[in-house]
Amino acid sequence: MRGVDKTLIPVDNHLHTKFCGHAAGEISEYLEKAAGLGIRAVGFSDHLPLYFLPPDKMIPNYAMDERDLPVYVNMVKKHAAVSPVDVKLGIEADFVPGHEKKLEKLLAQYQFDFVIGSVHFIDGWGFDDPAELEGYGKRDIDGIYERYFDLVQQAALTGFFDVMSHPDLVKKFNFPPTRPLRPLYEETARVFKRAGVCVEVNTAGLRYPAKEIYPGPELLEVFYKYGLPVTMGSDAHRPDDVGCGLLEAMRLIKNTGYREIATYKNRKINFIEI
Ligand code: ZN
Ligand code: FE
Ligand code: FE
Repeated sequence: MRGVDKTLIPVDNHLHTKFCGHAAGEISEYLEKAAGLGIRAVGFSDHLPLYFLPPDKMIPNYAMDERDLPVYVNMVKKHAAVSPVDVKLGIEADFVPGHEKKLEKLLAQYQFDFVIGSVHFIDGWGFDDPAELEGYGKRDIDGIYERYFDLVQQAALTGFFDVMSHPDLVKKFNFPPTRPLRPLYEETARVFKRAGVCVEVNTAGLRYPAKEIYPGPELLEVFYKYGLPVTMGSDAHRPDDVGCGLLEAMRLIKNTGYREIATYKNRKINFIEI
């Protein structure tokens, strides 16, 4: 076995912490779990404060409070200094058009190793929130997909993000579109290539009705064809989910043709051979 188990999951680049209000567990517990699984490198990427909402419209327990951002940064750094696991400081930032200046300012305050860009809102609708499921019945499903990928592309082009998170999150609750997605996939990959972003293979989809990794095999194939780098993460919101699904993610990544996985340090990309 040559200690194969110890090297199967090189990195989990998407971990949350209790600072966002909807994740559980101490940072030390996430790191213990990673070390126990032989994961050599992790990236914390908790939710950036909801900078695009007015202070009185904040959604409770959706993202960390602005006052907690420096606490989060310091906590991750403190653990990084002593952990046997290689710990990177990341952040998962929502993209909402029209609020770019505020986002830029917020991100510039800290030296993150990487910034993940996510689209969780379509024109004010939290389409990935189970509490807002009824929104799928009020809109045209093909229109939802088109608008989602349009926003993801806009996000990539801002230049604020190193990694585009869960790129087909819109499939989460398994309301399938009626038209083939290939043209949207191709367009998105072309835009990502132009933007110079990395894509994340995120296993949270396995834990939701979609029952599929984000991105699915066809979309990942298109990303590969366009030469886009990939990273991967469990999107763990509790220590037990660290590394969850990442063996399957590795299989998908390798079967698609990839031979390396990206990690980030000081916003610079590095590659781990797989
Ligand atoms: Zn979350
Ligand atoms: Fe997310
Ligand atoms: Fe996340």
